[in-house]
Amino acid sequence: MFGVANNQFSTAAEPSSRHGNSLRVPNLIGGRFADSSASEFIHVLNPATQEVVSEVPLTTKEEFKSAVSAAKQAFPSWRNTPITARQRVMLKFQELIRKNMDKLALNITTEQGKTLKDAQGDVFRGLEVVEHACGMATLQMGEYVSNVSNGIDTYSVREPLGVCAGICPFNFPAMIPLWMFPVAVTSGNTFVLKPSEKDPGASMILAELAMEAGLPNGVLNIVHGTNDTVNAICDDDDIRAVSFVGSNIAGMHIYSRASASGKRVQSNMGAKNHGVVMPDADVDATLNALVAAGFGAAGQRCMALSTVVFVGDSKLWEEKLVERAKALKVNTGTDPEADLGPVISKQAKERVCKLVQSGVESGARLLLDGRAIKVPGYEQGNFVGPTILTDVTADMECYKEEIFGPVLICMQADSLEEAIKIVNRNKYGNGAAIFTSSGIAARKFQTDIEAGQVGINVPIPVPLPFFSFTGSKASFAGDLNFYGKAGVQFYTQIKTVTQQWKDLPSGAGVSLAMPTSQ
Ligand code: NAD
Repeated sequence: MFGVANNQFSTAAEPSSRHGNSLRVPNLIGGRFADSSASEFIHVLNPATQEVVSEVPLTTKEEFKSAVSAAKQAFPSWRNTPITARQRVMLKFQELIRKNMDKLALNITTEQGKTLKDAQGDVFRGLEVVEHACGMATLQMGEYVSNVSNGIDTYSVREPLGVCAGICPFNFPAMIPLWMFPVAVTSGNTFVLKPSEKDPGASMILAELAMEAGLPNGVLNIVHGTNDTVNAICDDDDIRAVSFVGSNIAGMHIYSRASASGKRVQSNMGAKNHGVVMPDADVDATLNALVAAGFGAAGQRCMALSTVVFVGDSKLWEEKLVERAKALKVNTGTDPEADLGPVISKQAKERVCKLVQSGVESGARLLLDGRAIKVPGYEQGNFVGPTILTDVTADMECYKEEIFGPVLICMQADSLEEAIKIVNRNKYGNGAAIFTSSGIAARKFQTDIEAGQVGINVPIPVPLPFFSFTGSKASFAGDLNFYGKAGVQFYTQIKTVTQQWKDLPSGAGVSLAMPTSQ
């Protein structure tokens, strides 16, 4: 064990942050995992059992300020640490993540509910960002033009910003923190991370591993809490940039509040991703893709395909879709047979059920109703079985709202043009997919669709880290996306240097005119 204060935190095989009798999740400040002196704590509940897994503090203002000062103090020496040394920390970090994959996945399943296999995918997609950060020297390279004028060269360097902060959602407890701090710190910044108060365990394990990999004290700090901690991040004068992933209400609030205090902000928000199904698509592959992308992770993915638009006769496939959805196994995420686990909380389940009911009341037809499901042995779990609503129209609440549960809603269009219009009228622009065997239809879709991530016979087109995660419209606020080239640009600023090294003729005199290239 390392970096542990008061013996409060361990990376034992059970869910992180549980040590001895203490369920308390510590802060990480200046390299020390220390219990918060908060007076209020939030219970993290296992969504399959309601068992209290851990207690998350509402980190105090003083502790928050100490975390920011630790990051500020660590910055000068970390930014001057050779980039090769910073990369080597990431090389070691990725190795430790691989070694601890099972522990991370178990923690995620226990706190978040997704199946173990899906939890491994959550870790793996974050691990790929760490691997990418291992090439930071190349990613961060500047540019050089020699002899822009006689004896004068100009070059630009990408420099770190200083202290950056990240605010995370509950649905990818490992991947999303890993979208943020590995890119930020390898490019020379220091970081303050606020995990989701619903499942902070994976962030804590990752932080321990990052420190074991050699991240110096103060380079990564972790604070907890909800609105007050987030507002403190937005307002703090020492924080230069804020990365946010989560809902639109929080994301737009954070975007405006943090921008108003002069910070860079990247804000990835909600979604309503459509899958457009052409009648010439491969039936089997398309139905499998719809079932996987609609119900995987119990629909709690920002890239879930939550809306199907059947074009023309593909509407006849609905019956088969229902059969496949019915065959899915709903169970606690630790059951190796489970296809989907519970949703995150009782409130989330209530909200999902309410939106389904509102669809029914406004004229949608329920083809499959998973609201009353009971999982033997887990009667207290927040389970919702696969649910399918059809004849949904754009004015219905269940269409306008992001449901974020295992609910697939079906619409119909007579033509590809009409389907594209439906998708483009939706306010969100995270992703959209088309299923077709026609290159012409696929190309038209790719060109005309207003969504940041397009899948062509691919249901969840989340780009790998050499690209960026490119949601658009109401799904994103800011200019520079997460990871990839844009991610490095977000965490760095350009300094452009113009240098002159030449023998100047004596007696040339002084010219007050604007210098021009000669
Ligand atoms: P959330 O917005 O409730 O919480 C995200 C973070 O914001 C948490 O750390 C929380 O403490 C904080 N927060 C919440 N409300 C706040 C407020 N009013 N003021 C200040 N801070 C606040 O989101 P969630 O429920 O944890 O995550 C689900 C949402 O995240 C969905 O909308 C999903 O689509 C979205 N998401 C988007 C992406 C993407 O890349 N576009 C990825 C994952 C999740």
